Amino acid sequence: MAQDLMEKIISLCKRRGFIAPSSEIYGGFESCYDYGFLGALLKNNIKQSWWKTMTQYRDDIVGLDASILMSPKVWQASGHLDGFTDPLVECKNCHHRFRKDYLKDNKCPDCGGELTKERKFNLLMKTFIGAVEDETAVAYLRGETCQGIYMNYQFMKDTMRLKIPFGIAQIGKAFRNEITTRYFIFKTREFEQMEMQYFVEPDQKRKEKWFDYWEKERINWYLNLGINKKDIRFREHQKDELAHYARKAVDIEYKFPWGFDELEGVHDRGDWDLSNHSKHSGQDLSYYDEQTKKKFTPHIIETSSGADRSVLAFLANAYDEIEGGRTKTTEAKKEKEVVLRLDKKLAPIKVAILPLVKNKKDLVKKAKEVYDKLKFSWMCQYDEVGSIGRRYRRQDEIGTPYCLTIDFDSLEKGDLTVRERDTMKQKRIKIKELVDYLREELS
Ligand code: ATP
Repeated sequence: MAQDLMEKIISLCKRRGFIAPSSEIYGGFESCYDYGFLGALLKNNIKQSWWKTMTQYRDDIVGLDASILMSPKVWQASGHLDGFTDPLVECKNCHHRFRKDYLKDNKCPDCGGELTKERKFNLLMKTFIGAVEDETAVAYLRGETCQGIYMNYQFMKDTMRLKIPFGIAQIGKAFRNEITTRYFIFKTREFEQMEMQYFVEPDQKRKEKWFDYWEKERINWYLNLGINKKDIRFREHQKDELAHYARKAVDIEYKFPWGFDELEGVHDRGDWDLSNHSKHSGQDLSYYDEQTKKKFTPHIIETSSGADRSVLAFLANAYDEIEGGRTKTTEAKKEKEVVLRLDKKLAPIKVAILPLVKNKKDLVKKAKEVYDKLKFSWMCQYDEVGSIGRRYRRQDEIGTPYCLTIDFDSLEKGDLTVRERDTMKQKRIKIKELVDYLREELS
């Protein structure tokens, strides 16, 4: 059933234009995916919510958009050139390669062959900068967005007059040459992160307080966007699991169709990054506290979430299927209905505008007037194709919270029917009161 759900989500994504394999006319490419219009809207809504929560609804965090390419010295200093590795084994028979810690036993999962001893495989993706392709031109696509934050720590602190504790948030692409990609958009080699680095005093007690605070803040963000409480949990890393930079790490895990797995990490990175960048660059990256007259290297609590993993979690959380249909019409009864119960804030299309029939000029004109009025406030879709029931189901399937139907009464009385996705309740609303009504409902 669970795996089945994964197939259903992938199929819905393809069918309705959320997500499809990249370069499909060439047979796809290395677990890369493209977001179609609805997928891009959904992902943008997730990113918007995160960005606003971090940078707009509070005054201690600012946002940043740093470049993907950085000096290779960054990755030397951060420890990624040496320590950003996963254990790799290769089958001696078919030469397929695997991530050792993903294997159930010590045999090749493809042919049963014997495996080589594990070796460390570096995940940084290499490229060349400029016209000469030699070792001096090697650069790396960033393996995590936060290094761009450390590079701008001084610049942001000084220009934005930041006082500890403060945070810097960034959303952007990261790249990892993962040995094994898996589960659709869950683990890919190109992905998007939403990362926030919170700079605090190096005081253990206060740091723990901030760690707990950010754990709660972050899980609440998912809960407020509709993730079921029973499907999300914390998992603390064992000492031998910790990344090279981490002193403490707690994963926020979601119950994906294959089981609980990481959605986001909350990490205590200590002073690892700023100290190392200070040492390697020769720049003083310490912080001077005007009040206490103390100088110190701040410690960092990081919250690191995946935008693509969030898309998958919100889709899995929202997917609902009703065998035989919710509606009583014979047409609907024959098939199962899919309802994507996304939180309104995340729904790609907020309002669908539907003239009852498409061959009545006045109805179409009125519906288009309504569409033209609403489109400046919300992402709307105008649809006149198919029976009204079929159009409702189409919108249910992509998670549209409200459908507006313009019928013959609308022409006489200046009102229309608002149909709500989850309850299917319908009510008449005056067209001139529509903007206020929707503003209230969608806020
Ligand atoms: P995993 O254990 O799944 O490899 P990780 O512990 O290496 O992940 P972090 O380095 O903590 O991941 O990255 C922070 C977040 O970035 C993850 O929680 C995840 O949401 C996202 N992320 C990391 N790697 C990938 C990937 N290959 N594809 C998609 N998202 C990823």
